[in-house]
Amino acid sequence: MKLAIEGWFTIDDDGTHLLGSRCAGCGTMAFPPLPGPCADPRCPSEAQERVRLPRRGRVWSYTDARYPPPAPYVAAEPYTPVTLAAVELAEAGLVVLGQVQGLGTADLHVGMELELTHGPLADGPLVWMWRAVR
Ligand SMILES: [Zn+2]
Repeated sequence: MKLAIEGWFTIDDDGTHLLGSRCAGCGTMAFPPLPGPCADPRCPSEAQERVRLPRRGRVWSYTDARYPPPAPYVAAEPYTPVTLAAVELAEAGLVVLGQVQGLGTADLHVGMELELTHGPLADGPLVWMWRAVR
């Protein structure tokens, strides 16, 4: 199982989880996880702990990608448009972009709940994706 990006998400028996960081000083969370200083410039803490982010969130915005992104992205041949959603993880104070599995833009609306899953990119490695809540 090859992940598209090591350290940003994990796949295990509990499902797919995004990995973020939480500041030990003020609790500010970040994705992707930060190794050093807090994401909040007002906070002096440099202690970040790794955390699993919530697996469900609500659509903040969405679109579709009708043209293949430029390299280094490896697009399928022929290219199949993908749906993208920015999903708000309210408890974490974050919005995370990802491909949407099994839904088009006509199926989505702002505020709709989605959950995390994963799927393969065109060249094979797995990446996190959003899907309808099951
Ligand atoms: Zn902080």
